[in-house]
Amino acid sequence: MTGAGAPFTTRFAPSPTGPLHLGHAYSALLAHDMARAAGGRFLLRIEDIDRARARPQWEAQIFDDLGWLGLDWPRPVMRQSARLPAYAEALERLTAMGLTYPCRCRRADIEAAARAPQEGAPQFGPDGRIYPGTCRGRPMAARGEDDVIRLDMARAVQLLPADAAFTETGPAHAGTHRLDPDRLVRAVGDIVLVRRGMGGSYHLAVVVDDAEQGISHVIRGEDLFEATRIHVLLQHLLGLPVPVWHHHRLIRDDAGRRLAKRDDARAIARYRADGLSPADIRALVGL
Ligand code: GLU
Repeated sequence: MTGAGAPFTTRFAPSPTGPLHLGHAYSALLAHDMARAAGGRFLLRIEDIDRARARPQWEAQIFDDLGWLGLDWPRPVMRQSARLPAYAEALERLTAMGLTYPCRCRRADIEAAARAPQEGAPQFGPDGRIYPGTCRGRPMAARGEDDVIRLDMARAVQLLPADAAFTETGPAHAGTHRLDPDRLVRAVGDIVLVRRGMGGSYHLAVVVDDAEQGISHVIRGEDLFEATRIHVLLQHLLGLPVPVWHHHRLIRDDAGRRLAKRDDARAIARYRADGLSPADIRALVGL
């Protein structure tokens, strides 16, 4: 399935864990502009699945900053914290397919097991350190309260159609990308589907929510390009539509580093306080 023929619907999906900065402004403005140019829809989704880090004041600031930038979106917005039953249902389906297992490894265990890596094998992928497989094969019934749930990638890729692929329209990787099963196993590995203390992981939540919101085009930063393979894989496994992807350039600081939440100096709120206008922000990010 592909979202290419659906009415153009895109979204901006910030996590309310800090101030929006220039990079977020670029992402939101670009998505909004592309939706408008296509006569489509721009949605806002609050990715507050990490309850330990999400804060209501950051969420309020997101609404305020985006409104100030001149953006508009349908309300009420989707919030991941209200979507846990949908993530649980998706997890159940993957479990029924025999693709999940509970993992009790702590970070230190994974580091220790990873100290003797296979020669030439990548150590880090888009989900962080590639899991060495210690708990693989544990039955779901053995799940402890503090366990995370992982995807058995070697099994998962066996269910991928041979022509599984996605379309990217962003500047750095434009074209059609086939999902390579060996690469998924070696360079991505057994990703986390449910994090400790959370009802899902970013990867699971994002595909379930993009499908629910009818997202035809995902417009987001280049830093998430490699994670797209995970998302397209999950879309195939769960029978969800695969959208078109557009990963845009990142806004960097003067030293060429990409901006992070802690870069308060480039927070939109700071520019506002300094008297800049939304047009100034557009100019700063090259729009
Ligand atoms: N919530 C993610 C972030 O703030 C973005 C997720 C996405 O666009 O897929 O980085």
